Amino acid sequence: MLIRDNYPELMKDLLAAGCRELVFADNLSHAMRARYVPAPGDKDMTILTSRRTTLELVMRRYAARQPGIRFETGALVRGLLTGREDGTLRVTGVTVEQNGARRDWPADIVIDAAGKNSQAIDWLNEAGAGIPEENERAGILYFTRHYRLRDGVTEPERGKVPGAGDLGFIKYGVFPADNGCFSITLAVPEIEIEIRKAVVRPEIFDGICAQLPGIARWTSPETSQSVSRVFGMGELISRWRHLVVKDEPRVLGFFPIGDSVIRTNPLYGRGCSFAAIAAEALRDALDLPEAAARAVYYHKRLAVDLRQYYDDMVKQDLSAIKRARNAIDPDYKPGLKARLIKSFAEDAITPALRGDVELLRTFMRAFHMVDRPNLWLRDPRNIAKILFTWARGKKRNAAYYPPKLGPDRGEMLTSLGLSPTADAERLKAA
Ligand SMILES: Cc1cc2nc3c(=O)[nH]c(=O)nc-3n(C[C@H](O)[C@H](O)[C@H](O)COP(=O)(O)OP(=O)(O)OC[C@H]3O[C@@H](n4cnc5c(N)ncnc54)[C@H](O)[C@@H]3O)c2cc1C
Repeated sequence: MLIRDNYPELMKDLLAAGCRELVFADNLSHAMRARYVPAPGDKDMTILTSRRTTLELVMRRYAARQPGIRFETGALVRGLLTGREDGTLRVTGVTVEQNGARRDWPADIVIDAAGKNSQAIDWLNEAGAGIPEENERAGILYFTRHYRLRDGVTEPERGKVPGAGDLGFIKYGVFPADNGCFSITLAVPEIEIEIRKAVVRPEIFDGICAQLPGIARWTSPETSQSVSRVFGMGELISRWRHLVVKDEPRVLGFFPIGDSVIRTNPLYGRGCSFAAIAAEALRDALDLPEAAARAVYYHKRLAVDLRQYYDDMVKQDLSAIKRARNAIDPDYKPGLKARLIKSFAEDAITPALRGDVELLRTFMRAFHMVDRPNLWLRDPRNIAKILFTWARGKKRNAAYYPPKLGPDRGEMLTSLGLSPTADAERLKAA
């Protein structure tokens, strides 16, 4: 929405380069699509998708065309220049290494866009800033492989089985990109050690994909070929850094944006949106003349605009971690509360969403960060629809249950030649 509304030229460039828009109607089941009447807000629930390289190249070229911008390539920031202003730490520039030489580069402000591994906050803390942070494990590892459609082959139709889903022991997703490219991600809970160790092997990755109907039609040899190895990404955490504590900035003249200030589980696909929202907030903050006011305004905006989504994702991760542990524990017996929660999700919310476009729309508005998370669950009309579906019972809801996403855990592991019991034994021993 920010690109579409604030940077229409960039939007044009992205589409011209083959970036794609996946629209709300693309999520609808066949039956829902027949009844679907577009509503004005549906445009706000569009996913812009492409390879990361395409997005970055187009954005870079766009930025380079703007007045007053110069790129310094091959330059590594090796440290921050700091001083004190009325007792508060102030960043006054960066130390840059370029072509084997180091130089100090003074600056009015420094924006740290160095991503999740940025060292800037560590440097500031070493200089005495005392910047606290919150950390939570995402609880998964992320495995991705890239593919290209074969010449003359078009993308598979959206079938009955969705292109993204959660089997508990694996979450999967197809990410259609630009110019016939797409990627498949398999997210594996940290506790699933057998799968984790094996999935980087291309034959295992392909073996899993072949058994997931939502993916198999994309990865079949007639449709596409893989163009990369399997990339594994671990150490995934959610992290929020507090540069203002009780309205007191810990540092002046320094603004981290994107992953360097707030990092989220990539599973939710919100990192770029978070970064874009932070960038907009920073632009507004810099309209203020005074350094402390800028910092306070910026970090307040991050909290107002993003904190609820962050908390919601962390909460979802913590319950997914619990579920994943229970899934491998043969002695786990769910109590009444756990059974009720499961039934509410599976027998009430899911069939209700699959049978009612209006309800799905309110749910998806939260997913797309158009509405606040769980706002849709506070509307009595939506609650009534969900409870009605629950009360109607499984038999009469039969048409609204999702199709089977894939084999169960034991079946899948056995078919791959992996032990379905080894993780449970490990858990017991621990
Ligand atoms: C596996 C995976 C999948 C993801 N999928 C999605 C998705 O589908 N949708 C989504 O929105 N988000 C996704 N994300 C998150 C998204 O990639 C990040 O949130 C986003 O890239 C953050 O942007 P950034 O500019 O903060 O950092 P980055 O994109 O990481 O950019 C940081 C840049 O700083 C440079 N840099 C670092 N240190 C220095 C230094 N010392 N000196 C000079 N330059 C430096 C790096 O080279 C890099 O170019 C995913 C993340 C991962 C890990």
